[in-house]
Amino acid sequence: MSARNDRELELSRRQLLAGSAAVTLAASLGLSDDAEAKPQKKRIHVPRRVLGKTKRSVPMLLMGQAMSLDPVFDPKLAECLQLGIDYFDAADCYGGGRNELALGSFLKRTKKRNSVFITSKSDKHDPEGFERAVDESLRKLGTNYLDMFYLHGLKDASHLSAKLAGAVDRLKKRGKIRHFGFSCHDHNVAELLTRAASLSWVESVMFRYNFGQYGDRELNKAIEAAAHANIGLIAMKTQRSAASFRGKWVPFTKAGQWNRQQAVLKAVWADTRITAVVSHMDTFGKLRENAAAAADKKGLSRREIEELGRYAAATRALTCDGCDHLCGAQLPAEMRVGETMRYLMYHDVYGQQETARQLYRALPEQARNIEAVDFRQALAACPNAVDIAWHLRRAKQVLG
Ligand code: SF4
Repeated sequence: MSARNDRELELSRRQLLAGSAAVTLAASLGLSDDAEAKPQKKRIHVPRRVLGKTKRSVPMLLMGQAMSLDPVFDPKLAECLQLGIDYFDAADCYGGGRNELALGSFLKRTKKRNSVFITSKSDKHDPEGFERAVDESLRKLGTNYLDMFYLHGLKDASHLSAKLAGAVDRLKKRGKIRHFGFSCHDHNVAELLTRAASLSWVESVMFRYNFGQYGDRELNKAIEAAAHANIGLIAMKTQRSAASFRGKWVPFTKAGQWNRQQAVLKAVWADTRITAVVSHMDTFGKLRENAAAAADKKGLSRREIEELGRYAAATRALTCDGCDHLCGAQLPAEMRVGETMRYLMYHDVYGQQETARQLYRALPEQARNIEAVDFRQALAACPNAVDIAWHLRRAKQVLG
């Protein structure tokens, strides 16, 4: 990085942090009556887009809540509101099942329920389980409606049935949910997006999407169909499901104004079919950096775009797309390659070391028992040529 770029980057970071620190959380939430408060600096405010057929205006950056929150009042949520991030993405399983309770407590204390957009989700994909899950989420959140409810981690398109459509309709008529959709991140994202495009009652899809997939024609066609059907599209896993490639990050961080995490977000926002990115922001630093990237109207520079392309190519063999049906067909049935790679990503890329360890240790013992397994055929079947044996051995070392 040139000395000038160094200075610019440092300056932008300092401006960002100074702006964020200038206002107390309570004052910004309207909870303070301090008349002597000094004039505040203009704060970063995340721009908004319309979420497809829901016609709701939402911020381009959403607060992903797959984390443990303070059970009483989590200041990160308050910071989100200051930055214009008034969309909280919860799920019944996040934070060990306590995430919705914590969000509910925050909303009760701040009395902000009616000025935020709440999504929750559940892996109960059958109509009866889905309806029960909505009731349970409402109870934990202490609210009588959810802005959106997603089927969580949908894999099987047959769950999008007429019976489920009936359940969605009933819940809407009772005022329990306002909108419905699903999230997905496995190998059949394109299939599910295409299916969603044909269903009038699916209003939003949250799906795995990142800079490494721009040349994927099948996915692009599916996104096009979903956008044409006015499905509200939310990107997740934008940092790419790669693991164990710290050595490859460093060259990119020297390429331009934005750091790696900010640059990959900007690359997704450049695709105007995507309404928003949901991001796991478990520190104030990440929140402020991501918000600054969203608020800055300039796109990536040519140099940064070229560098992202090089970065995508350099990490291809380290990136798992979750297509277990390909490598899994060549391995003992108990192996869990996609899941293990995802947990490595949580550990290496998202900084969720403890969560990653817990998830890994919860896998069946046979899935971790890799010593006698021959991975050669699986490697040959992998479209990314991921060195599966090496990653699974490493998972055992760092997560086992
Ligand atoms: S290792 Fe390769 S084949 Fe297996 S899930 Fe990952 S990308 Fe797909």
